Amino acid sequence: MSKKEDDNPLEEIQKQLRDLLSNKNVQVAFAPFMQGMKNDEEPKQEASGDPSTEDPTPTRDEQLEGIQAFDRKPKEIRDYLDRFVIKQEQAKRVLSVAVCDHYNHVRRCLEDANRIHSEYVKPNVLLLGPTGVGKTFLMRNVAKLIGVPFVKADATKFSETGYVGYDVDDLVRDLVKAAEGDVELAQYGIIYVDEIDKIASEASRSGRDVSGRGVQINLLKLMEETEVSLHSPQDMMGQMKAFMDMQKGGKPSKTSISTKNILFIVSGAFDQLAENVRKRLDLNRIGFGSAEEEESSKMPVSNFLSKAETRDFIDYGFEPEFVGRLPVRVACDELTKDDLADILRSSEGNVLEQYRNDFDGYGIKFQLSDSAVEKIAEQAAEEKTGARGLVTVLERTFRDFKFELPSTPIRTFSVDEKTIENPGPSLSALLEENRDQLDDSMMEDIDRFSEFFKREYGFHLKFRKPAKVALVKQAISENRSVRAICEKKFSDFEHGLTIISQRTGKKDFSIDKKTVEDPDKELSRWVVESFEKADSSSERT
Ligand code: ADP
Repeated sequence: MSKKEDDNPLEEIQKQLRDLLSNKNVQVAFAPFMQGMKNDEEPKQEASGDPSTEDPTPTRDEQLEGIQAFDRKPKEIRDYLDRFVIKQEQAKRVLSVAVCDHYNHVRRCLEDANRIHSEYVKPNVLLLGPTGVGKTFLMRNVAKLIGVPFVKADATKFSETGYVGYDVDDLVRDLVKAAEGDVELAQYGIIYVDEIDKIASEASRSGRDVSGRGVQINLLKLMEETEVSLHSPQDMMGQMKAFMDMQKGGKPSKTSISTKNILFIVSGAFDQLAENVRKRLDLNRIGFGSAEEEESSKMPVSNFLSKAETRDFIDYGFEPEFVGRLPVRVACDELTKDDLADILRSSEGNVLEQYRNDFDGYGIKFQLSDSAVEKIAEQAAEEKTGARGLVTVLERTFRDFKFELPSTPIRTFSVDEKTIENPGPSLSALLEENRDQLDDSMMEDIDRFSEFFKREYGFHLKFRKPAKVALVKQAISENRSVRAICEKKFSDFEHGLTIISQRTGKKDFSIDKKTVEDPDKELSRWVVESFEKADSSSERT
């Protein structure tokens, strides 16, 4: 924990609050605090333990019972992960075992509070591997399955002192937030710290230490066992609420949380470390022929992460104690083009489903050919951002489809290899194929505008066929909606038509091609005519 918490600012603040409240001249509004406390007292529940089932969201008690009666087997967890995460077999096996060991241990301690567990080495995990290959995804799914809260943060945002930036203790407080304020549930949660390779101490690499070592030491304390205050010293509102709790209940509510049972996962890409391992292995091979060396230079450098040893991490800039607190180490592999295609084909809830849902929101469905899946995977692999590349390619492919199609009557379309390669021309071709249908729907849009105008202003604009055709043509050439064009062209008509109607009693107006081409000129002519008509009829009378 950081130094500032040793001063226990809570007590000082509580004292000052007591003094403040005992001062009769000071009026304090309690309502906002009481409201805040009320919200805390009735925490909403976390999402279901198993995202794939339709089970109702478990209550907080059910979640706790689930942890207290934990009886999963590693293979079950692996099988569950297989539904969502493609490849990463080794990581799935290792994580399944670590998670089972940990939650079995938690269960047994809860069954027997006197159980001596000083020997217990928490299976905190060091998860290595390039970006976007499923490291976070694995752990999020594990947390969902077990029904424990999960938080993730980047190690780069911590400052050593916590005076500037984010304090490592905030991670634990975030876990309590993720558990909707339920401290008991939060103490069994999972904390995931990414980009851990960025806090390797610079000292051992460039002779300069930029707080990396300090952050490692702070994290180390959390990973061991420590009490973290529930309210950060900067969190005045939290401090006040804690005080109000105490006032209200007569006895202090819990002010800290133990990290004893929190499972820590730290991860990073460790590119440079992988390179170092490769060099070390190549050096060891000197004199044994160059075939192996050549082979190793062809392999993706991340493949060497699985061969990293404790000393590699220490040489890289990690404190030996820090590495020692991460006994479970496993590397995730890079995802090949075929793996990315597998994600689209068989990973439950993959990003393609999101796109299907987005289109479904407009009642639009699409079919994706096998060759399209292959093409998406191929382009995504070129992005070199793992499965995140899939999102990039899908976004590029569907962006204009999402913009254009909802305004058309097209409700199904097919996506093939060509669509992925060249979405623009494919969309144009799709629109062209449906030209008649599109024209009809734009004509209907004009009728809808006419109905709107009548409802709104009481005048019937009767669009003649040539006028409609001209409006549709303009909409197509300007790539704007026909409704927007009508609204602009006839924006002044309400005023002009009211004048005419006052003079002549006329409510229906025929809109022909000429009116569409120059609406203002036509309207002026109509107004002038209405005056002339009115004058001549008054002369007659
Ligand atoms: P990282 O390895 O950087 O932690 P993530 O786990 O956050 O990457 O992956 C980003 C997203 O890509 C995930 O939310 C998931 O949708 C998808 N993804 C990544 N790897 C896989 C995989 N092996 N199988 C299925 N989906 C994956």
